[in-house]
Formats: sequence, C-alpha cells, structure tokens
Amino acid sequence: MTEFGFIDHIRTLFAALPDNGFEGIGDDCAVLPLQGGESLLFTADLLTEGVHFLRHATTARELGCKSLAVNLSDVAAMGGRPVATLLSIALPADAAGAWAEEFMEGYRALSEEYGVALIGGDTTASKGGVTINVTAIGRAADGCIKRRSGARPGDVLLTAGLLGESGAGLQDLLQGRCDTPCAAIHRMPRPQVDEGLWLGTRSEVTAMMDLSDGLASDVRHIMECSGVGADIDLERIPTAPGIDLRTAACAGEDYKLLLCAEASGVDSLMEAFEARFGAPLYPLGRITGTHELRWCEHGTPSPLDWQGSHHY
Ligand code: ADP
Ligand code: MG
Repeated sequence: MTEFGFIDHIRTLFAALPDNGFEGIGDDCAVLPLQGGESLLFTADLLTEGVHFLRHATTARELGCKSLAVNLSDVAAMGGRPVATLLSIALPADAAGAWAEEFMEGYRALSEEYGVALIGGDTTASKGGVTINVTAIGRAADGCIKRRSGARPGDVLLTAGLLGESGAGLQDLLQGRCDTPCAAIHRMPRPQVDEGLWLGTRSEVTAMMDLSDGLASDVRHIMECSGVGADIDLERIPTAPGIDLRTAACAGEDYKLLLCAEASGVDSLMEAFEARFGAPLYPLGRITGTHELRWCEHGTPSPLDWQGSHHY
C-alpha cells in the first residue's frame, strides 16, 4: 500500500467514529473550533534515522531545529500561530548523551525564536536509530484559517519562495558533499511562520498548504481537496539559482507556502506581501475546472507527467 493509500484506508476505517468537533484527516493540521471565534490546530510529523536524515550528515543541533521547523510549517500553512509542541524521541545508547543535549539546544533555539512552549512528550531508548515525533499546536482566528479545499477555477497559484534548494541539497548530501549552501538549507529549512500568519489574514487567499513533497505532488492535494485542476507555467516556476527546473518542480522539503488567490485581488496581494516581507510571491499558474494537472510551456500544455517526491 502507498502512503496515500494507507491514509485513505485509515480515513475510511474511522469515518463512522465520532469526530468530537474536530475537522479531521486531510489538511496540514486538524482543526478544533473553540468558542469565541478561535480554533486550535494540531499536526504531527515523524523523522526517522536512515529515512529522513543520516546522522553522519547532519549535526544534532540542526536536526533539533528541523524536527520543529517542519511542524511549524504545517501550522503556518493553515494561517495559524504555533503556540506549543510535544516532543517524543527514541534514542539509541550512542545518542543518549551529548548528541541528545545538542539536539535539544537546536529545538530550544527555534522554539525561542517563535515563542513556542514545549509542553510534554516522551523519551525512550531505541535498539535501532534515532526516531523523533513532534506534535505542534497552533491557534488561529476562525476567519483566518486557510484550507487545501478553498481553491476555485480562475484562482492564481503562487509560491511564497524559490523552489529546489532543499532537493539539490539532498542530492549533495547523498553524494557526500555536506558543505554546500543547498545542503545547509536541506538540513535546516526555515518555516514561513510569519508569512503564513500574514497570508491567513488576507481575504484574497482561498487555499494554502506547505510544500513538503514537492510542487508536483502537493498541488495535487489542493486539486483533490478543492475538486479542481491546475495549469502550471514551466517558465514561471521560481527556480532557485543554479537549480534545474525538474528538481524545483518535483523535489521535496522546500517548506515554502503554496497558495491560491482570487485573480481580481492577486496584484494587490503581491504588492502588499513584497512591501511586508521584502521578497516576492511567485505566480506560477492557474486553477482550472479540468481536474487535471498540466505543465504548460508559454501557454501550451506539454506532455510532461512529472511526479513529486514522496516525503513520508
Ligand atoms: P503533511 O505533508 O502536511 O504532513 P500529508 O499530506 O502527509 O500532510 O498527510 C495528509 C493527511 O493525512 C494529514 O491530514 C495527516 O494528518 C493525515 N495522516 C497521515 N498519516 C496519518 C496516520 N497514520 N493517522 C492519521 N492521519 C494521518
Ligand atoms: Mg504540510
């Protein structure tokens, strides 16, 4: 069974159980509306040694930052403010001392930067590698929550940053080049927390998520949840300098925001974003009513059938 097949299986298996007021599986976070116009957001991500990281290719401090960053990114993707995390960690004997302390320094530094409390978790020994699970909790005004399901035909598709550096960095790491700028970005992604919060307040934004599996894979989540299609203009994909187009479109772990905005408001949104953050939003395509993803070259659909990387 694929990752997505398994998630579908879980969703069906639990469909008849009470939801207890939660908007459940399927978005970057589960949403629990509270009284008074606010909601809590919940998300969890797992990092496993040998699958998500190689211990010899990252410092413990970097991994501490990254374990938190990927969760903060999911809260940001819904337009929420991260407020607290739970951290569970399984440590083999050779990581239980200085390595674990250094890991916590990295985790603490990013927690401090975003004002996030560590409120619990679990610690255990491991007979295999290091395994890390973080659950992040966020808060959002109900009206600011952005879902994957809000895109409409005619909306403009945008990213809030350049793509491909993390994917190129992974290729560097796998080839033993640990000291490249892209490898550093792969080991320590910056979650777009402030950008997500700000985009949450903008009524032009109809849908949002973060890019963890690559544009080619993640745009399909918006398509599926919104019941729409998308045309992506190859020449407008914001490729980071020196990165090839396919890496930018397909590689994972950029943790940049992917959003849809009403066409009539997109110019003022882009102008205000650039004024606020000193960096642009990049329009790269349109939402369509076709239910298919098309990679277009100067307006003409190409035969490309690019798929994303499945970042479990
Ligand atoms: P993300 O990349 O933002 O973490 P995914 O696209 O990987 O999200 O996951 C899709 C949805 O499936 C999310 O809502 C996630 O919470 C849910 N999900 C993934 N694995 C499980 C699981 N084992 N049990 C319940 N829900 C899961
Ligand atoms: Mg996500």
